[in-house]
Amino acid sequence: MSGIRPTGFLHLGNYFGAVKNYVRMQDEYECYFMVADLHSLTTHPDTKELKSNIHRVLAENIASGLDPDKVALYCQSHVHDTAELYLYLNMLAYVGELERTTTFKEKARQQPDNVNAGLLTYPVLQTADIIIHRASLVPVGKDQEQHLEMCRNFANRFNHRFGEIFPEPAAFNFGEDLVKVPSLDGSGKMSKSENQNATIYLSDPEDLIRKKVKKAITDVGPTEPNTPKPDSIANLFLLMKLVGSQERLQVFEEAWNNCTILYGDFKAQLAEDMVEFIRPIREKAAAIQEDNNYLKEVMEKGAEKANASASKTMALVREALRLNYY
Ligand code: ADP
Repeated sequence: MSGIRPTGFLHLGNYFGAVKNYVRMQDEYECYFMVADLHSLTTHPDTKELKSNIHRVLAENIASGLDPDKVALYCQSHVHDTAELYLYLNMLAYVGELERTTTFKEKARQQPDNVNAGLLTYPVLQTADIIIHRASLVPVGKDQEQHLEMCRNFANRFNHRFGEIFPEPAAFNFGEDLVKVPSLDGSGKMSKSENQNATIYLSDPEDLIRKKVKKAITDVGPTEPNTPKPDSIANLFLLMKLVGSQERLQVFEEAWNNCTILYGDFKAQLAEDMVEFIRPIREKAAAIQEDNNYLKEVMEKGAEKANASASKTMALVREALRLNYY
C-alpha cells in the first residue's frame, strides 16, 4: 500500500522512490495505491485545482506502467472507513511524539499561519491509510522512513491494547536501499512544490529538461585521480544511473577517475537520457488526462476494491474495540 499527494506534478523522485516499485509489485502482490487527496488539504487548503491534479496524478501513474486492473488505484477520500480508523488511532497517538516529527516541524516552519491539527496528525492518517488494508509492505522513498516507524508504533499499540489485528508495516524496495532522488541544485531532494527549477517533472517538455540539466551545479572538476565526488557531482551521477545506459555511465565514471571529464558533455548526455526516459510517459499521460470517462471508471473500480478491503478490516477493528453493542 502506498500513496502520493495530488499537490503538483509528479517528478523523478516520485517515480524512482515510489511509482517504479508500485509497477514492479503489481504482478506479485495484492496492491492498494491511492491518490492522497485528504493529506494534501493539510498544506494546500485551496481545492480549486484538486480535480485536475488528481486526474494528472492518476494519468501519470498509469502512464508509468501501473495497471488499474491489477491493483486498486483509488482516491483516499473515496474510502470513508479510513476517517473512522484515523479517529480511533488518534486516541493512541501522543501529542508529544507527533510534535517531534521532522516533517511536522518542517511544515510548521514553512506555513506558520496554518499549523493545523491535520498537519500534526498526518502520520496518524497515513497509518490509517496503510493498516486499513492490513498492509505490510509500503513502497516509499527514503524521506518517508520516519513516518513508517511511527506507523509501526501506532499499529503495535493498537495490537497490544485491543488484540493482534494489524501486521507490522515496513518501507519496501525489493531488498534494495530506499531511494532519495536529489535535486539538480546540489541541495535537497526533488519535490513537487519546492525547488521547481531543480526538479525534473514527468510532464516537462524536452527543451525545459535540457535547460534545467544545463543549469545543474558542477565544480572545477577533479584535479587528482580517483578522488571522491562532492555531493553535487555524485547527485548527477546518481541521476544518470537511474535514467541512462550503464555503459555510458561507466565511461563517465572512468573520465571522472582519470580527471578527463568534461561536464558539458556529461550534462548534455544526462539531459538526453532524461528526455528519452520521460518522453513516452509524458505523451501517454497527456492522452489519458483527456479521457475523463476512462479516469472515472478507474476511480470507481479502485474505490470498489479499496472499500471492500477496508470494510473487512473495520469489522475486525470495531469488534476488537468492543464497539458492537447488540
Ligand atoms: P512530494 O514530496 O514530492 O510532495 P509525496 O509526499 O506525495 O511527494 O510523496 C510521494 C512518494 O514519492 C513517497 O513515497 C515519497 O517517498 C516519494 N518521493 C518524493 N520525493 C522523492 C525523492 N526526491 N526521492 C525519492 N522518493 C521521493
